[in-house]
Amino acid sequence: MKKIKSKFKHLFISINTTLAIVFMAMIIATIEVIGAYFTRQLEQNSIENFQSSIQVPLIVTNQLSVQLLRDNKRANTNLNRIVSDYSNGTNTISEIIVVDNKDVIRAVSNLNDKSRIGQRVNNFLVKQVTSTGREATKVINDHMVQVTPLTGSNGSANTVGAIYVRASMQGVFNNLRNISFMFLVTSLIAAVMGAILSLVVSHAITKPIEEMQSQALNIADGDYSSQVKIYSNDELGQLGQSFNTLSVRIERSQEESESEQRRLDSVLSHMSDGVLATDRHGNVSVVNQMALNFLNTTKERIINKPIATVLGLKETSQDLISGQKGIVITLHAGTRDEVILHASFSLIKRVTGFVSGSVCVLHDITEQQKNENSQKQFVSNVSHELRTPLTSLHAYIETLNEGAWKDPQVAPQFLQVTQEETERMIRMINELLSLSRMDRGVSKVDLEWVNFNDFVAHILDRFDMIVKTDEKEGKKKYTIKRKLGTQALWVEIDTDKMAQVIDNIMNNAIKYSPDGGVIKVRLQQEQSRIILSIADQGLGIPREDLGKIFDRFYRVDKARARAQGGTGLGLAIAKEIVDAHHGQIWADSSESKGSIFYIALPYEPMSEGDDWDEV
Ligand code: ADP
Repeated sequence: MKKIKSKFKHLFISINTTLAIVFMAMIIATIEVIGAYFTRQLEQNSIENFQSSIQVPLIVTNQLSVQLLRDNKRANTNLNRIVSDYSNGTNTISEIIVVDNKDVIRAVSNLNDKSRIGQRVNNFLVKQVTSTGREATKVINDHMVQVTPLTGSNGSANTVGAIYVRASMQGVFNNLRNISFMFLVTSLIAAVMGAILSLVVSHAITKPIEEMQSQALNIADGDYSSQVKIYSNDELGQLGQSFNTLSVRIERSQEESESEQRRLDSVLSHMSDGVLATDRHGNVSVVNQMALNFLNTTKERIINKPIATVLGLKETSQDLISGQKGIVITLHAGTRDEVILHASFSLIKRVTGFVSGSVCVLHDITEQQKNENSQKQFVSNVSHELRTPLTSLHAYIETLNEGAWKDPQVAPQFLQVTQEETERMIRMINELLSLSRMDRGVSKVDLEWVNFNDFVAHILDRFDMIVKTDEKEGKKKYTIKRKLGTQALWVEIDTDKMAQVIDNIMNNAIKYSPDGGVIKVRLQQEQSRIILSIADQGLGIPREDLGKIFDRFYRVDKARARAQGGTGLGLAIAKEIVDAHHGQIWADSSESKGSIFYIALPYEPMSEGDDWDEV
């Protein structure tokens, strides 16, 4: 910008100076042409005037002619007298010589030259006049020499002699020199005045241009606030007005394009899809935050890079943008979970059809893909889970059918297994139905306020009964210890569903514990939640399986779990129910020492003013 400014400044100075120089040169040239013509005319006139001023009057020449015709000594005396009389009467003539037609000097004005009388004259001009009879004038140095022929007094054209007059032109030349000097001085004054005037005029012309130039630089810097001052209504004034209108229009269109840009930026930054725009070569020129998040990169790292490289694809950028088809990209960026994106490309075309770039929209389909995958997995799991018991049922029934039903040793046992497997399948199908209801949102939680302390105690009472029955029947021996506290903890829950969750965890604790184990149930209150923990001294769960036991059909030891009558759906249902209560469920375990299951539910401690009104 500085460079442009200095260049403009230089240009501006040049115009100003050029105008002044041109103006001054024009004045000087005009003065010189006029002056040269004037002095030439003056010189010519002065010489002509001088020439006529030294012209010897006719009366004198006639007298001289008369004397020359006499040709005697007296005549010479008369000639010298006439010449000296005439010479004394003028002050410009410095010398007069009279010659006869044989070029012999007959009279002189200077007394010192008297000796020349009677001698032949050497002067070429005199000889020319006496021979031609025509007057001749010549300027020699600062003198004018005029030779006039003398003719006979009786009117004949015969030349009787000539009169040579030499006069000093010093006065004429001095005059001319003075006039020239005055002329030079006045032309210099006129030139200087012209230069000053031209500077003023050129400044007046260039000032609005200078202002427009500085305004143009301001506009280039993005400052549209100032306006060019209008000095007149002439072409420059109109130019200034047009300039102001132009700057207002540029400001408006700049504002419009900026607000458009802001709108676009805000749309792009609030989009849930990633957007990348490229130039026509496929290099990234615009990118929104979402795309940067998807690609786990920064703007600086991808701007001007080929889009194919940015998306980690093997195709060339040109193929990608011209193909305009959607593609699925799986990104494994750093430590992040994999991201699956659907990238669609569209070309940006001008009205002329010229392709100026392309837009790529990245849509996150990770969740969708995961859902599809888990759905496929689920269907395959269900088929597998149903096929296994059905195959064993089929085998038992086939054996019975082949005659084993008659064997009193085998038949009851086989029928027992068949019944258990059928019950397990029914249980599994019921659980699947309940999960499907929850998935579809059909099964709503039916909330009611309960004292969670009492609620858990009631469920544990039921389990105490089971413990006793189990002991009586000689099944497993285990102890349930509770630490619930006495404080009433009021929470809003679906009692049936929450009982199902606690039942499942308690049953698992019993199922996966050996004889003589202790199951500790504890209820604690934290700031804004209550936590129920159920700890057993059973098999425990390997660390790597802890995160997966809440998945559908996931079992740590499939054969063992199945033998225990498990379906692998209990904890998945428990998680769905706890989630529906806005709570959390998780497990902790150290292998072969036991597991602890935690259920946390949101809880708001009641202040004194919140006491229930007595009904
Ligand atoms: P299941 O009907 O098989 O018990 P769950 O969903 O209730 O299905 O449990 C999933 C798996 O988690 C079980 O198969 C078992 O491997 C493991 N598990 C659950 N509770 C316990 C526990 N208290 N101790 C050890 N393993 C457990």
